[in-house]
Amino acid sequence: MNEPIWRSIIDDGRSDDHQDAGKEQEETKAEPDVEEQQRRIAEKLARKRAARLEAERKRIRKNRIIAACSLAGVILMAVVVVKAAKSSPEEPQTASSAVSAEAQTKDPGKKADSSSAAGKTDPVPEHKVEQTNGMTFVDDILIVNKTYSLPRDYAPGVSEVAVNAFNRMSEAAANDGVSLWINSGYRSYEEQEELYNGYAWERGAEEADLVSSRPGHSEHQTGLAFDVNDTSFGFEGTEASDWLKEHCCEYGFIIRFPEGKEASTGYEYEPWHIRYLGKKIATEVTESGLSLEEYLGITSEYPDESAGEDSSETHA
Ligand SMILES: [Zn+2]
Repeated sequence: MNEPIWRSIIDDGRSDDHQDAGKEQEETKAEPDVEEQQRRIAEKLARKRAARLEAERKRIRKNRIIAACSLAGVILMAVVVVKAAKSSPEEPQTASSAVSAEAQTKDPGKKADSSSAAGKTDPVPEHKVEQTNGMTFVDDILIVNKTYSLPRDYAPGVSEVAVNAFNRMSEAAANDGVSLWINSGYRSYEEQEELYNGYAWERGAEEADLVSSRPGHSEHQTGLAFDVNDTSFGFEGTEASDWLKEHCCEYGFIIRFPEGKEASTGYEYEPWHIRYLGKKIATEVTESGLSLEEYLGITSEYPDESAGEDSSETHA
């Protein structure tokens, strides 16, 4: 250490107010005060050292705290990781329970569907029902029966696809020595209305319902249904009737009102009435042994029909 540093330290120790007086005193008392000054300087230095030591201790404490904190952080992270690892097998459970909850919320709808179809033999529980422009499609099949009708202005004429299929079938039948022809094909709403009203005028509405479809409720209005050969029970048991029953599905047709299915179709057995569905569905329906109503899980009842009343008819 040298003097200029001491001086600066001493100067720093004085207040501004007494600076001038202090200089005078310094000049006069310079010699006797040297020891005193040295002692004060030593004290100051000791205080500074102590302060430095204290600062160092503080720094060490601070570092220890930081170290402890980071250690705690690491431990905390480790705990979180372990917990996450433990809970990860539970996550699929919660996910699956969410799925099952979703399935449960969907279930009532499904149950309602199946309960609405309760009492019916329904191999396919869910069917897509679409209603557009007054027409009903179940699984994309246009449905016309006592429950589902067609609007007055639906007049497609005979289906070319169905006629072509019939012609192929007729050719095949001819090859087997059987002759098949269309007795009655497309019927417009107005034609059906005339037919029905004729019966109703003759025999009353109740009787008319037994022998004819109400206007809008005849499958003939679709252009996809044909009465083949003879529309009387004389047809049943003929070679043509047997051939039709055995082979019509190969050409895309079904016997629409099968024997023993009056309750579901709403019509008595009509061995002559065929409906075009396309080969795939016609074969499926025929092989199922079900009526189309049973196959699609639908009803065939006029809205005003009282339950249990036998209103099946002969000429659909
Ligand atoms: Zn018919």
